[in-house]
Amino acid sequence: MGRIKQAADIWLSFSYSKLKSLFNCPFQFQCQYVLKKPRPKPIILAVGSALHYLAHLNNKRLYQSAESFGKAWLGFWAGVVSGKHGPDSFRAPPEPIGWKSANEAGYWFQQGRKILEEYYRRHQDWRASLDQSITIALKSEYRLTGVSWEGFRLNGIIDRLDEYPDGVDIVDLKMGKDDLAVVSSSFQPLFYQIGYERRCRNKFCSGKPLRGFVIENLITGEIQRIPTSGADRLAEFTRYLREASDYIRAILTQDQTLVRRLIHLHPQDVENFRFFPRLPRNLHCKNCAYTADCLAWESDHGPPPRILWIDRFIAASEQPQPHQPDLPFGP
Ligand code: SF4
Repeated sequence: MGRIKQAADIWLSFSYSKLKSLFNCPFQFQCQYVLKKPRPKPIILAVGSALHYLAHLNNKRLYQSAESFGKAWLGFWAGVVSGKHGPDSFRAPPEPIGWKSANEAGYWFQQGRKILEEYYRRHQDWRASLDQSITIALKSEYRLTGVSWEGFRLNGIIDRLDEYPDGVDIVDLKMGKDDLAVVSSSFQPLFYQIGYERRCRNKFCSGKPLRGFVIENLITGEIQRIPTSGADRLAEFTRYLREASDYIRAILTQDQTLVRRLIHLHPQDVENFRFFPRLPRNLHCKNCAYTADCLAWESDHGPPPRILWIDRFIAASEQPQPHQPDLPFGP
């Protein structure tokens, strides 16, 4: 485990998850992105990461049958459960996982295998039906880092790029299904669209235009299609980035004059130089790993984020100790 990585200008660098976290709940954002507090990963997120990784391996055509793919899941998940590696890949460091019961690991052994075997069969049939001119998984788990946009750095990972004669699809794998209107109005496709235009189109996609986004449900195979965005939507996205950036910077530097205008975030937070939780707790708290911190915050707000943030820089100069992940079955 290396030193703690922390950029001094964290208000200039955004992934979709980071932006979403801020607008969902500023206190959750503080815990995860400012202080990087270690917390057990919610089980459903660990399973999602692990299934994504196996789908990525399948893009490399490593498996001869649905059964061998299912067995690969068993081996990989065993490594996650035993703390040999994390859920992101074989090389990922182990992560503590928020097991709620000893049955959960076993349940996902079976369930994950079933999901992936069906995924494999579905993809085999689909690929066999396609014309030779189509390249599925031209890129898989393609990392976008520091994509320059209006003074910001955008980051993300594209699950899959599929190339067709008339353009390229960006495919995002999801475990569940959201309403199409919600998915279409999310900013996630914009991170990908900008990333595609700046990092992929001319580099390895022969200058082909982006056809759109495809959301593929990993479990059911259901597909949702979202068109690309125009200039108005991109301008709106930039306004959100500016608001988020001003807000974070003003709180962490304790300088209110840095804020141009707040529409979606609360001016009260900036006046108090605090990332407030979005109370009362409700559906937005689903899968939040910081509920205990949030409950404690209600009785004692503790030092201002600026102090905690500076303390973290000081801590970064010390080598952290390796940790042993919590296992569901005990030692
Ligand atoms: S429990 Fe809810 S309100 Fe509290 S930090 Fe998490 S998301 Fe925010």
